[in-house]
Formats: sequence, structure tokens, C-alpha cells
Amino acid sequence: MFPSVETDIYTLKPIGIVKSEYQEPADVPIKGGNAVIEIFSEYQQGLLRITENSHLWIQMWFHKADRDLLKVVPGKVNSDLPEYGVFAIRAIGRPNPIGLTLVGLERVEDNLLYVSGLDAIEGTPVLDIKPYYEQEIVFSPHTPYIRPKKREMRQEIFLKQALNHHQEKCAGLLLGVRMALIADDYFGQLNTSELKITVSGSACLADVLQGLCNARLANPPRFRYNDASELEQSVWEKDGKLLTITVKHEATNDELLEPADEQLFIINFQE
Ligand SMILES: [Zn+2]
Repeated sequence: MFPSVETDIYTLKPIGIVKSEYQEPADVPIKGGNAVIEIFSEYQQGLLRITENSHLWIQMWFHKADRDLLKVVPGKVNSDLPEYGVFAIRAIGRPNPIGLTLVGLERVEDNLLYVSGLDAIEGTPVLDIKPYYEQEIVFSPHTPYIRPKKREMRQEIFLKQALNHHQEKCAGLLLGVRMALIADDYFGQLNTSELKITVSGSACLADVLQGLCNARLANPPRFRYNDASELEQSVWEKDGKLLTITVKHEATNDELLEPADEQLFIINFQE
């Protein structure tokens, strides 16, 4: 016997609140930012052993969101995109504006969780916290490509994705992000079975590009790596078109996000 449902209204009590530098939804960058989650004292025992996790799912109530929406254009990312149903994308506005964000847990002090990557404003009620488990990882899922109109936003997202995958902000990571941006200019979505990538150079560069393209070695075979000490290069192939991106010279870490593509790379495109 199922219990009878007497009401379609559920009561949620926030277990904490977000402390953030962002005051309005429009201020929050796509990649989120550093924030503190203050857990109310009556729920603090629920944090026991939480530091055994590096990443957490944070469920929030986006209290300023529009609840009357069922279809939206993801305009914050790109106003040229078509409409999507709110259940098909991660728009803030929806009938029950529950936010679900994966954050890094940096440290815990008493009832305060210091987190990174949280896309919530000051005062956002927190409903629940759950750990992120490795068995939840789907390496190469099918997703719509909600392509940001601005290249800087694409770079921000690639940087976040690359850091999640590679876990260090090394020269290989920055070169990989820059190469992925160029490949995105030519081919669009990088996570597609038609796009094949061959990387020569450092293991860091290869690891980052594999993570950014979600390219497996098999099923289908999309990724190849040649261990090379002299050359840092990625070759991208789709529909008979070939894009070759070769690093011109060694640069220091800080310089890799600033220069124009042509200063860093020799770019060759064959149709
Ligand atoms: Zn590295």
C-alpha cells in the first residue's frame, strides 16, 4: 500500500544560507564563484565527516527566479539560441526553482562550508547537500550545445571543465584550453562522435584535450596521443576537414591566456 497523498504542497525548511559576493542573479558568472554556505546550528550534526568529500551537490531554492516559465531562450549565454523547455536545460526560472550545483569543498570551519564554483547570490536558501560520487561520472554524455556567444565565456567554461578534469592549472592545461577554443571556432561542439583528435606533446596537454572533448580511445575511437618531447600539437578531423594547431614557442603560465591565437600557434585548416 502506498501512503495516500493528501496534498500536492510540500514543506521545505532551509538547512542553511549562501554567503556570496553576488547580490543579483545577473551578477553571477556562468562558472560560479567562491562562496560560504552557513549551515544553521540545528543541522550542524549533519556535517559529520563531510570533509571526506572533495565535491558536493548543493540544492538551493532560487528565491528570485521566475516560476511561470516553461520555455526559455538561454539568453544569458547566447540570445541567438532557440527556445528550450525548462526541463531540457539548466535555466534558473522554472515552476520549482530548485538550484542544483556541483561545488568543490575547499574547507570547513564549524558550521561554515567554504566552496568554489557556486552560482548563487547572497541569501540564497540551501535545501540539501549531497556528496558527488565517482560512479556518477558519465565521461561522454549527449548534451545540447548551449554555445556561449562570447568567446570569453566559452573560454571560462572550457577552463572550468579542464580544471575539473585535470586538477592543476599548468601550461598544458592553458594550451589545451586555447586549442579547444580554436577548434570550437572551426567545428563547433567538441563532444561529438564525428570529431577525432590526435595530440602530440606533453601528457598534460593530451589529458586536458581528452577531457575537454570527452574523447574516448575506443567506442568510438576518437582520441590518439603521441608522446613527443619536441612538438606540442593537436590535429582535429571532421567530415574530411583537417585542423592542425601547433604551438610556436614556450611561454610562461600567465602569458598563455592573453596573446592572440596567431601569436601562440601555427594554425592550418584544410577543407
Ligand atoms: Zn598538468
